[in-house]
Amino acid sequence: MGSSRLYEAVDHQISLDLGGRGSRQLYEAARREAAAPLIEGTANCLQRAIEPNGPILLTTGFPIRPSNSPETDGPLGTVVLARALETLGATPVVVVDERTRPIIEALFETLAVEERTESADTAPESLLARHEPTAVVAVETAGRTADGSYRNMAGEDISSLVTPMDELFVRAADRGIPTLGIGDGGNEIGMGTITPTVERVVDHGSTVASVTPTDQLVVAGVSNWGAYGLVCGLSLATGQQLLHTGETERRLLAAAVEAGAVDGVTGVSTESVDGIPVDVHAHVVEILAHCCR
Ligand code: CA
Repeated sequence: MGSSRLYEAVDHQISLDLGGRGSRQLYEAARREAAAPLIEGTANCLQRAIEPNGPILLTTGFPIRPSNSPETDGPLGTVVLARALETLGATPVVVVDERTRPIIEALFETLAVEERTESADTAPESLLARHEPTAVVAVETAGRTADGSYRNMAGEDISSLVTPMDELFVRAADRGIPTLGIGDGGNEIGMGTITPTVERVVDHGSTVASVTPTDQLVVAGVSNWGAYGLVCGLSLATGQQLLHTGETERRLLAAAVEAGAVDGVTGVSTESVDGIPVDVHAHVVEILAHCCR
């Protein structure tokens, strides 16, 4: 297979809509905006942004009711992507709220990667001035809606639980810093790129749709898969195998749950992501690893 066909295969794998929430239609809308497979354009953008020791900021985090614990979707993809960026010579920094921090720390430890985090309470201008990032990446990060509130997929107002990250992306874009978003539901940072489609195809779409766009948008069936797909794309672009294994996926999910993460669809503390059991995620990782081998 030529590399374009491989990117296409990665796009296909990550956009499998197992949750039946309309993510495939969101993928197709994002694809219409892009000139190439989503992973090809996004991986190329991120690869161009990598500079030796150059900081790249990553955000993640969605509080899940009723426990208000962070979900298992997002942190795994964020840390796997951070490790790939570090392998490629960049300095990844995860901007994280206090609720999500223990999960990010446990995942860094599981991957034996040096942990670099920043408090999500830091003002966006300070984050940009202190780190001078070469790119900013949102993985399953709550995005504000048209009325300024933050909504979960049921349409409930979760604003009081969210540390807003949108301004970081707006101001980075103003400075010409590449912005990347990964999501699966329509209420995440990046989905502002395709807001009308979110409003049309997602349940409660007009209430939950995020209005915060990013230069590059990856829509996946599960956001972790989108991040893994991006790591796959970086592997294809650089000729290095950067993705983890199915076995490591199992260890990461176990560590996240142990540290307090819950399933974002069921709200329950189980080794599952978006209602999908760990076995399936391990298989998806193996299929993606095959694509970039
Ligand atoms: Ca999700």
